Amino acid sequence: MEGLEVLLHPEGRDEVREGSVLSEKSLPFQKSEQLYELARTYLPAGASSNVRVHMHEPFPIIFKKGAGPRVCDVDGNSYIDYLMAYGALILGHRHPKIVSEIERQLQEGTMFGTTTELEVEVAKLVSSTVPCAEMVTFANTGTEATMEAVRIARAVTGKDKLLKFEGHYHGHHDYVLFSVDSPSPVSGLETSPHKLPYFPGIPEEISKTVIIAPWNNPTALERILKKHHDDLAAVITEPVMGSQGVIPPEPEYLKQLRELTIKYDAPLIFDEVLTGFRIAKGGAQELYGVKPDIACFAKALGGGAPIAAVAGRKDLMTMIGPGRIGFGGTYNANALSLAASKATLKTLFENDGEAFRQMTELGLKLKAGLTEALRGGGYHAVVNAVGPMVSIYFTKLRKVSTYRQALQSDQEKYKRFRDEMLKHGVYMHPDGLERLSLSAVHTEREVEETIVAVEESLRALRTQSRS
Ligand code: PLP
Repeated sequence: MEGLEVLLHPEGRDEVREGSVLSEKSLPFQKSEQLYELARTYLPAGASSNVRVHMHEPFPIIFKKGAGPRVCDVDGNSYIDYLMAYGALILGHRHPKIVSEIERQLQEGTMFGTTTELEVEVAKLVSSTVPCAEMVTFANTGTEATMEAVRIARAVTGKDKLLKFEGHYHGHHDYVLFSVDSPSPVSGLETSPHKLPYFPGIPEEISKTVIIAPWNNPTALERILKKHHDDLAAVITEPVMGSQGVIPPEPEYLKQLRELTIKYDAPLIFDEVLTGFRIAKGGAQELYGVKPDIACFAKALGGGAPIAAVAGRKDLMTMIGPGRIGFGGTYNANALSLAASKATLKTLFENDGEAFRQMTELGLKLKAGLTEALRGGGYHAVVNAVGPMVSIYFTKLRKVSTYRQALQSDQEKYKRFRDEMLKHGVYMHPDGLERLSLSAVHTEREVEETIVAVEESLRALRTQSRS
């Protein structure tokens, strides 16, 4: 039986642990290193997305196979997986219900280029759970979803400008690639951040359509809205800042944001690509009781298949259509992704959304365990969690509630800790501002093993620093 297969069966777990990296001093990573060398010959930077290589020096670990909450690399090392494909795998790797629904759909056809029954069924599932989703349309990625949401707002208002928040990521299209991860952490005052393109290649003209505001600061937001509302097509926000670790909104902040956008007459777009079908059945809008005009979903919506959704008020959504706002995509609402989405949503919604309560409980348990272990090990750290989204900041601050505070965390310390955790069988992204993603198939067992790994890693780091 292949190493990882036993992870699916509780009776096999000890067998895997014995052979796992937990018992080894140094790990064999040769195949990852060699494959990365080869990848760099054919793929720019050796990957099809920068985040897969960013901060992974000297080379990224390359995964081969996953099962439930665990993953195995090309060298045969197995890990508890907290990457979870950047949160897409809300039901873990190869969930049997997703696999069987995709297999069933394969027998009928992968895509048709027409509206399908499955499409209507998944749209109904989204509409019945997401408060703002009077109507829904499907794309393939979060990037496409936010692009379309912004287009709808521009067409409806007849205005061009988009207000986004410093540190928020909304995907890979030009309109939102400003002040995502500033190259300089002190670009302008925190209350009036400068606008910085994420990288070269984004037209200067587009920069003129973007307004940057600090998040979690209603006073600064009102000042900026007052100045720009005449030209404003929309305000787009991550309802929980998930692109700089995990930063929850301050109590009442989202309500204030909603009130201000109503006062200044700007449609409010929630980018729920991370929070949707994860932190509550109806996403952040349900958890915080704030209804946006439009919301975007991806990641958990497909449980690992490429699918995204734009959902919102009927009067806005019906702007889409021939002769009105264009919306296109050969692969939009393809049957395979819809099959995966249907299986994912139905599984998540079983027992009145018990999975969301369990994920939230586990997130709190992981947060508490990490906090205690890190502090016990003599580290200054803040651990934030919203539902199953968790992040660790190595910082002397008592609280991390803004982007600029997140940037103050010690990334090098995090990286050393993370590399040691790898040796102890826990996979986290090497960038500390990426999240730890729990899924609905992580259990207390994974969390307990993780805390043991933290304690052992900190001991190993202390020994290294003494020698
Ligand atoms: N919005 C948020 C909040 C995201 O985290 C991401 C991706 O990480 C996106 C949008 C873009 O989604 P995609 O990578 O599917 O294009």
